[in-house]
Parts: sequence; C-alpha cells; structure tokens
Amino acid sequence: MKTLAISCWLFAIGFISCTNDIKPLAYGNASCANCKMLLADKHFGAEILTKTGKIYVFDSFECMVNFKNEYLTDESQIDKIVMADASKEGSLIDARSALYLHSRNFPSPMGAYISAFADENSFTEFKSKYPGSKWSYSQATDSVLNKNY
Ligand SMILES: [Zn+2]
Repeated sequence: MKTLAISCWLFAIGFISCTNDIKPLAYGNASCANCKMLLADKHFGAEILTKTGKIYVFDSFECMVNFKNEYLTDESQIDKIVMADASKEGSLIDARSALYLHSRNFPSPMGAYISAFADENSFTEFKSKYPGSKWSYSQATDSVLNKNY
C-alpha cells in the first residue's frame, strides 16, 4: 500500500495519472502520448491502462498501436485498452472487441483512416456514409504496424 501511494505521488509529479480505471478522454486538454498532439477530434481517441495504474491517452488508433509496439510490448502489463466509439461521443469501448472501419472517406488524426465502433449497427450506419473495409483489432493493428492503410 505504501509503495502504491508513493508511486502515485511520483506519477502526479510527472503529470501522469495514477488510478485504477480508465478516465474520459480530455479533448482540448490532453496530449497524445505518442505524437504529442492535442486530442481534438471526438470521433477518435484511445487509452491504455496498465496494471500499475498508469494511463496513456492517444488521439488515434494508429498512435496507440505505434506507442504500444514501442513501449508496452509486454501484454501482461496492460490492464485495459479502450477506443473512442466514432458513432457515440464520449463512449469508450474495449479495443480488442471493437469493429474497425478503414475508410479513405473518413480520415483519422494521424492518417491511418481507422475508426472504431461498438457494434454492427453503428458500424454499418457509418460504412454506408463512408464506404470502406471492416477490420478486426488484429487486422487494424497489423495495418498500422506494416503501414499498410
Ligand atoms: Zn497521436
């Protein structure tokens, strides 16, 4: 318990959140842990919560994947990964079970054209407006890592 309190204090000094759960994405306020840009577009965003209670926020799926690939390679350190639901402002959904739309007509902040949806209905509705492909979490992740988008 003492160790936790001390590490929370250290995180606070470094302006890194220490908590046991995900937090709403602070658009207009928080910066992406990967590209340092301000979170601005509420259709996009991601968050990683580690087992030690550290939170990393991102402006896009692509930044989350690139950051995770570089700095959080040990999956056992990760508690949760959530994505902003592109169809529902303020809603955060489990990244691994989300449906991903890859559409050239719906650009994401860092250029991978990937947006996330909680369910088939909202996905289909968006896809009818922004034609593209349906990807799983692992397909979307591979496309970012291979820069194939
Ligand atoms: Zn970013």
